[in-house]
Amino acid sequence: MAELRLRRDAVADADLIELRLDSVADPNAAGALAGRRRPVIVTCRPTWEGGQFKGSEDERRKLLTEAHALGAEYVDIEWRARFDDLLARTLGRRIVLSMHDFRSTPSDLAETAHAMRATGAEVVKIATKANALRDCLPLMALGQAESKSGSIVVLAMGEHGLASRVLAGRFGSAWTYAGDLNAVGQMSASTLVDDYRFRTLTESTEIYGVVGSPVSHSVSPAIHNAAFRAARFDAVYLPFRATDAADFIAFARAIGLKGASVTIPFKVALYDQVDEAYAVARRIGAINTIRVVDGRWLGANTDAAGFLRPLQDRNVPLGTMRTSILGAGGAARAVAIALAPSGADITVHARTRERAEEVAMIVSGKVGPWPPVPGTWDLLVNCTPIGMRPHTDETPMPADAHTGQLVYDLVYNPPSTRLMRDAIKGGLKAIGGLDMLVGQAQEQFQWWTDTRPPGSVMRAAAEKRLAEFTSDENHLV
Ligand code: NAP
Repeated sequence: MAELRLRRDAVADADLIELRLDSVADPNAAGALAGRRRPVIVTCRPTWEGGQFKGSEDERRKLLTEAHALGAEYVDIEWRARFDDLLARTLGRRIVLSMHDFRSTPSDLAETAHAMRATGAEVVKIATKANALRDCLPLMALGQAESKSGSIVVLAMGEHGLASRVLAGRFGSAWTYAGDLNAVGQMSASTLVDDYRFRTLTESTEIYGVVGSPVSHSVSPAIHNAAFRAARFDAVYLPFRATDAADFIAFARAIGLKGASVTIPFKVALYDQVDEAYAVARRIGAINTIRVVDGRWLGANTDAAGFLRPLQDRNVPLGTMRTSILGAGGAARAVAIALAPSGADITVHARTRERAEEVAMIVSGKVGPWPPVPGTWDLLVNCTPIGMRPHTDETPMPADAHTGQLVYDLVYNPPSTRLMRDAIKGGLKAIGGLDMLVGQAQEQFQWWTDTRPPGSVMRAAAEKRLAEFTSDENHLV
């Protein structure tokens, strides 16, 4: 209990603190409430509803009844616990009646909510597992409808449900939960408040995001939220983990999405779904950006422009350079299409020769051996994932094969790769993937907002986020 009180009093970003009596060895209602500086919800979850309380139901009821009698701002009781006497005695005042489904989002949510509301509970809480983005939608509909007649909290648990936490207001929720229960998709209160500016989101805040799977390690939310903040643009940007393109489209239409970044594995699938794709996207055959204008979905690919930006900033004379592209995936295609208009002499190298031939053909380039022979290139562009964290010791080129002028590695995690370090040791210049990541994000931001975003703000946000990933990994080790 002493530790629970310490943690309770250390909370800085919340308005209401949930005290989980089931998480302590010596639960005691008076001890939990003593000296509190902020309002609390006293909860004591049994194991059958995802908690840790091992005692009897009578002991649990006694703890919760005591907490209520001692003036706890709220006491959470599970709907399935059937603590009807507690509900009757309190007339439901200061009671949060909760229902959790850790496996799925059932179809009878409205009936459940009505039955729960009929008990007289002051707040009804329904938390269900989202197995797809579209599972958020019945919860949003329920929250919006029910919040007209009383307080309700709706939550979609898991990575697919992240929007229900950040956009709690739009979901009709009286509040949302933050913390370190990663298994149910919680984020820290400071992330919610600082990164997603939870307290200032309104009905008119524009919603953007990145769709992918997986997407939790994307740096894009940090980049775009920092830029929206710096530009004082009333928008928020979230990671959306979708099961497929149709899942994302259904969700995006329902929440009124204004735009999105698109990442693996949806760049081609969503290209096929947009109402109109811009010329560069059509040449690449994939999109990395969506903008919704009057209900029409427009698709663009900013990878090509984002790739060129650092080269233009450095006045690299592309037209005079023999350029070797490593890899033949989506990024290689975007790079080849970006380089072609400069007149660069392009050779594509890939471990799968047929794929290299496909990319080379688009820009009338050549196909070379894998890996390239030293002395045959001036600019080398790595469009493979080799060297990406956690395989930071790997490189697509032998250390002594750097005989050109410039190496451009699209890998951005880590920001400085072994390929770049070997090139610099060999006397070459090197550009890392972070420059392109920021470049393509700047293009997206400008397309969505007609505002030029500050590259330095975006870059600093990306570096900070990447450093956090590294420190998380170190903690795991
Ligand atoms: P992709 O479509 O999966 O293509 C990857 C390419 O790399 C394929 O040609 C693949 O060959 C090849 N490859 C993978 N592992 C290899 C290995 N061990 N040895 C030799 N070749 C290998 O991926 P992508 O979308 O093009 O992305 C490629 C990289 O660029 C990723 O690291 C991505 O993070 C990065 N990227 C960075 C930015 C940025 O803004 N900085 C933007 C886009 C992409 P096979 O076809 O034989 O498998």
